[in-house]
Amino acid sequence: MTSEEQKGIGSDRIRGSSAVNVDLLECPICHDLLWIPIACQRCETSFCSACINRWLAANPRKCPNRCKIYIERKCPSFIVKLLAQLQLACYYQSRGCERVIPYEALETHESECDYQPQQCPGCRLEVLKKDFDNHTSGCAAIELTCQECKLVYKRVDAATTHTENICLREQIKENIRQIRQLTLQLHEMRLLLPSITKARITFNDLPMADEKSNFIPDMYRGLEWNKIYYIQRLHLEKNLLKNVHVPSLTASNSPHVALFSGKASISAENVNGIFTFISLTVYGAWNDNMQLLITGHRNSILVSKYTTVVLWCKPQLILLNWRDIDKVILQPLRGTRHPENGATIGKCNRVSQLLDLPDEVLLMICRYLQPVDVLRAFFKSTSDRLHSLILDYRTNLVLSALSYAEFRLVADELLPYLETSQLTLSNSNIPCLVEHFLSLCHQLPLNNLRKLTLNSCTNISSSFVVWLSNQSKLEDLNVYNGDLEVGA
Ligand SMILES: [Zn+2]
Ligand SMILES: [Zn+2]
Ligand SMILES: [Zn+2]
Ligand SMILES: [Zn+2]
Ligand SMILES: [Zn+2]
Repeated sequence: MTSEEQKGIGSDRIRGSSAVNVDLLECPICHDLLWIPIACQRCETSFCSACINRWLAANPRKCPNRCKIYIERKCPSFIVKLLAQLQLACYYQSRGCERVIPYEALETHESECDYQPQQCPGCRLEVLKKDFDNHTSGCAAIELTCQECKLVYKRVDAATTHTENICLREQIKENIRQIRQLTLQLHEMRLLLPSITKARITFNDLPMADEKSNFIPDMYRGLEWNKIYYIQRLHLEKNLLKNVHVPSLTASNSPHVALFSGKASISAENVNGIFTFISLTVYGAWNDNMQLLITGHRNSILVSKYTTVVLWCKPQLILLNWRDIDKVILQPLRGTRHPENGATIGKCNRVSQLLDLPDEVLLMICRYLQPVDVLRAFFKSTSDRLHSLILDYRTNLVLSALSYAEFRLVADELLPYLETSQLTLSNSNIPCLVEHFLSLCHQLPLNNLRKLTLNSCTNISSSFVVWLSNQSKLEDLNVYNGDLEVGA
């Protein structure tokens, strides 16, 4: 705090045997010595500028001395001269400063005074400015950033969290990561080489984004963009990444970065359009250890899938080279909020609904259920992720342990919507399920069937043979009767 902020200077701070009449130099509002004074044009009374401005804010255009109207003028020069004769003690005298300073030099001195308190960024204690460097160079609570491995640690924890071993290990980890990225970049360059300028999208040609994020236009660079924003790289780094070192692996000097905080997608612009998705560079802006699920689709069917863990602030090149797709879906999952990150956005780690679970766990749950129940439970879900997850169940249908009623239900409710290409039936739990299928097969929507397996089949009907001859796509037929194989 300096004299300017503290309203006024008490007359007890006047030093020396000056014969100045202090009464003339008192501000009628704060009753301390005038500080940066100005005066009323009519009554010529001087006030501290801070005092009179505060007064005028509450009493517009009125003088505290009840003059008709307050008009500001310079402080009378005899007052200025009197003030200039004053010698004053430093504001920080109670903290040890013994300097006595002329009125006019007071402000400069107090802004530089060695006895002003400063807060230590580590232990938060107030330390005198003159002791600050000495204190912080030894304070145990100070956070240090290792220039070699970029690890941030408290000085007091150095012996446990930043040993030479840890430092070297962190450096090696970072080096390996960078080598991997460079190798991938090299592959990417080779793939892109013939048309490198055509295919690389860095968002540098979008209109300059303002402080907040803007939507990427629906149609951009021949693709349709859904729920993907862009923001100036500078804003992202200033607001979200703070002052942390960001290794830039992206070759692009684009001023923009694209952002997505939930499920987002990129599709071909035209109905029958397809494209090759070679690679993308991503990093976590809010969360650390975020799972990113990338899926490639063609005619709404999942054809490629890639899952990776995205790190906060560490750009990662993902080389996919997916050919002939018409849609890419990007889906960030979970992750933990990075501790140094002040942003409030970010998903927490708590599992509150089924879809918060990772794929492995969902698949494990499926294995405890009958295939038909998996389909019935998830088939009508609006989640594309679940649909992709149960792809195997949708195309490869295994029916056993079904009652006839349940079989009817499958036939009416599920089969019309599944892309069943493989069907396996068995009588193992319910007798005659296979026979039931044989009598119904001509009514069933099974036009994509490529492989049919019938276990413990005892009797083949003529209608089944007719139906079979109409199955143009069927490549593989297996009929088992106990230990007798009838053939394909
Ligand atoms: Zn005042
Ligand atoms: Zn006045
Ligand atoms: Zn001082
Ligand atoms: Zn400290
Ligand atoms: Zn280190």
